[in-house]
Amino acid sequence: MLAKLLLASVVLADTAVRAESVDYFTDNGFGNPLSTIHHPSGEHFKDSTYIAYQGPHEDAYVCAYNQASKKWSGPVLAGVSPMGKTPDPVDNNEVDNHGKPAMMVDSKGYIHVAFGAHGGNPMLGKNAFGTPAGFGRGGKLTHLVSKNPEDISSWKVLDNISPFGTYPQFVQMDDGDIYLFYRHGSHQSDWVYQKSSDDGRTFAPPVSVLKHKVQANGTLHDAWYAWFAKGRGDTITASYIYHPCSYPGHTKARLNVYYMKMNCADDSWENAAGEKLTMSVTKEYADQETLIFKSGDKRCNHGTCRVDQEGHPHVLFRYGAGQARYTRWTGSAWTEPVAVISDGSYGGQDGDMIVDSPTNVRMVLMRNIDGRNEVGWWNTTDGGKTWAKETPLLSRPGGGFEIGALIENYTPEGMVVVSEGRVPEHLYRKMYLLGKDGPVQRPAEEASHIQKQLEILKKSGDKPTPKTDRAAKKANKGDDE
Ligand code: ZN
Repeated sequence: MLAKLLLASVVLADTAVRAESVDYFTDNGFGNPLSTIHHPSGEHFKDSTYIAYQGPHEDAYVCAYNQASKKWSGPVLAGVSPMGKTPDPVDNNEVDNHGKPAMMVDSKGYIHVAFGAHGGNPMLGKNAFGTPAGFGRGGKLTHLVSKNPEDISSWKVLDNISPFGTYPQFVQMDDGDIYLFYRHGSHQSDWVYQKSSDDGRTFAPPVSVLKHKVQANGTLHDAWYAWFAKGRGDTITASYIYHPCSYPGHTKARLNVYYMKMNCADDSWENAAGEKLTMSVTKEYADQETLIFKSGDKRCNHGTCRVDQEGHPHVLFRYGAGQARYTRWTGSAWTEPVAVISDGSYGGQDGDMIVDSPTNVRMVLMRNIDGRNEVGWWNTTDGGKTWAKETPLLSRPGGGFEIGALIENYTPEGMVVVSEGRVPEHLYRKMYLLGKDGPVQRPAEEASHIQKQLEILKKSGDKPTPKTDRAAKKANKGDDE
């Protein structure tokens, strides 16, 4: 009888858990909680996948999923953003969104997060790599580290990197060296890296790799958006696009695609053909030495870059309204860029890829189509000429999804993190960890975290701006300075 009762309660409990499981791990992503250019946003270390994202008040939050026990932990508030507002805005135009975290796990298992800045501000000192800081909302690039290895419950600040950073990107090498790349200030600044050989406890001073400068005509300001990742062996790839900004002021223009590679043995750089580069790279030098694709007057935006067994780069960039395009270096030339999705949808695409061989590539892409957002894999077996679609991992009505770069050391169960689109009432967003079979589940009562925020909003009486106003405002504002 007892056994029967026990069995019945086990079955009941199991049914209840399954019935109450949801496919998101938290609902407290905020604004644009993650992006491919703040990366990695997750890393798998030993049994656990660690994820960092922007939560309420633009603060850095961390969750962890233990794949052995199938248990989630977090969200934990890891660090408070100087750019956050109280109460949380309900209009995304009032959220800076540049201070999103990048994260990594060092060789000893400590978790690092860099977040909280859009170029700093003049109170923090003189920015040697950019125009006077303070454009946007300033903030301060902040380096957090977990107090204990493999433990997200407590954090401290390590005051050892420049405060003038945005778009932080961690690249960790096989020997444990860490390169933290970022733009050293607002949009009119150099892209730099700081190197650490002691698990992020100290960093060497910033080194410039892409140079900002005012053109001779005095009105055009050369600037860049760049993406850095580990290449084959002891190398780092850089894929980037040109931002012809105005001086003074800002434009939304973005053009062309470029590539170069760093040899970490001596921190020298070369172009795709293997010719050594003199650093730091200016616009004229980039056009001459590192150009992949000249877009004319058509918009071109940054994407991601991964390498094959030969070390040859495969580059994803976004063309026009955000159409994912692909090109690869054959060893002697770049292939003609191809639209990955050829069914007529052309916008809102972004993602990352796994290069299995020079001809076989799997690309995980987010896209907008027919009033919904879709995330799924597109595969090529002919070197990128044609791409076949797999069944989507996630498909939801509405728009405004965000996707991160692939999780570092991903496993089939947890490969990429995405956030769901906005609802009309507020900017809190559900966050999903997607594996090869779709979203990782979590018990519903563990995944709800915005009750307090919703009550604060209700009390403040703040109402969202009507959609049409919001769209008009968005069109008038540089969304990505
Ligand atoms: Zn600009």
